[in-house]
Amino acid sequence: MSGKVSYLQWMLQVLKNSVELGGFPEEVYHILSKPERVLMVSIPVRMDNGKIVVFEGYRVQHNSALGPYKGGIRFHPEVDLETDMALALGMTLKNSLNGLPYGGGKGAVKVDPKKLSQTELERLSRGYARAIAPLIGDLEDIPAPDVGTNPQIMAWMVDEYSKLKGRNVPGVFTAKPPELWGNPVRLYSTGFGTAVAAKVAAEKYLGRFEGLTVSVHGFGNVGQYAAYYAAKWGAKVVAVSDTSGTVYDPNGIDVELAMKVKESTGKVINYPRGEKLDPDASLYVDCDVLMPSAIENVIRADNVHKVKAKVISEGANGPTTPEAEKVLYERGAVIVPDIAANAGGVVMSYLEWVENLQWYWWSEEETLSRIKTLMENNIKRLIAKYESLRSEKGPVTMRNAAFVLAVERVYKAMKLRGWI
Ligand code: NAD
Repeated sequence: MSGKVSYLQWMLQVLKNSVELGGFPEEVYHILSKPERVLMVSIPVRMDNGKIVVFEGYRVQHNSALGPYKGGIRFHPEVDLETDMALALGMTLKNSLNGLPYGGGKGAVKVDPKKLSQTELERLSRGYARAIAPLIGDLEDIPAPDVGTNPQIMAWMVDEYSKLKGRNVPGVFTAKPPELWGNPVRLYSTGFGTAVAAKVAAEKYLGRFEGLTVSVHGFGNVGQYAAYYAAKWGAKVVAVSDTSGTVYDPNGIDVELAMKVKESTGKVINYPRGEKLDPDASLYVDCDVLMPSAIENVIRADNVHKVKAKVISEGANGPTTPEAEKVLYERGAVIVPDIAANAGGVVMSYLEWVENLQWYWWSEEETLSRIKTLMENNIKRLIAKYESLRSEKGPVTMRNAAFVLAVERVYKAMKLRGWI
């Protein structure tokens, strides 16, 4: 998974293995290894100093068997078309696995957004929205934020697209600000979903969730709410960490207080109680459940022997390397993979889109209960697939099962449509 080029190769290998493991026809691999459509755009932006800079962008529409394309827009200096193609394939699989009526897509602009002023960022966002406008639409392709983009950028884009259409089209982008047809639950939907995944898996494999000990690596948007809901549902959060360090208290951490401390001082280590350890210590403390929610590749071959958790729910993307995953399964742990455990955000995007298409909105409470039901069902379906594959084929991981399930749904749709 290291390096830009190998990310696509890695995704294709995962796809190939899943097609074989699931016993699907070879054509499924041939179709899904290529995107249906790729758009490359050049976006001239007048900078604040009066000069024009031309940015390169893409929108990859990977597969539409299950519905309109859906996937985020990344603003990052290191993206390229190949990375975007890999990410779009990933979205086809993520949307499929999570039972959503969407195909997969992904967009990107090669830019470091931190180097732009707000006005330059706005002009770039509007320029990108105009450039991809011919291919997107609330029933065709529905982008959302990803790394380097945010609700404000979605607001500019939806405004630009609506101006082109001559009417408001709220459903064309999701994760908009709550004041502009967004939903306030988006702020915490991913962390909420990661906690749901942990709870369902713990109930299955450890017999309960209440009273179990939980550790959370990464105390940002995902980690804070994952910890908050784990505590709310009766687990004991014993460790949380950010780049400032780990707070460890075997008697339990007051997560709401830790969130306040993080908000007011920027560092969770300023939490007034507990032991203070280094940032990665949260991966190694004694606990039943671990939710790695910071960055990729934190559980690796060289440190996996220190990880004690029995159930791992991946809030972050790619926190466990394949070598480490193998070791964890050999010692009896289970890992709810990122593609399922951090799907709360895309499930929320789906609900926001449904609200927008109907010009209707649900209360925060009703939205949360819908996400909870969808996520619980998704994780239970995944566990059932994992158990059935395991009894048929021997040692497999829940990640293997997730990809098989994802490919299966797309395969069935393509077969029914007569594509295969
Ligand atoms: P964030 O920037 O809000 O939080 C990241 C947190 O991790 C910060 O608290 C940071 O201090 C901490 N961190 C970074 N490196 C660390 C280290 N080495 N040790 C300990 N802590 C460390 O980001 P986020 O939005 O919460 O996203 C976290 C992960 O979840 C990323 O992998 C992201 O791709 C993934 N994800 C996020 C969402 C979402 O809706 N936010 C959705 C899907 C996936």
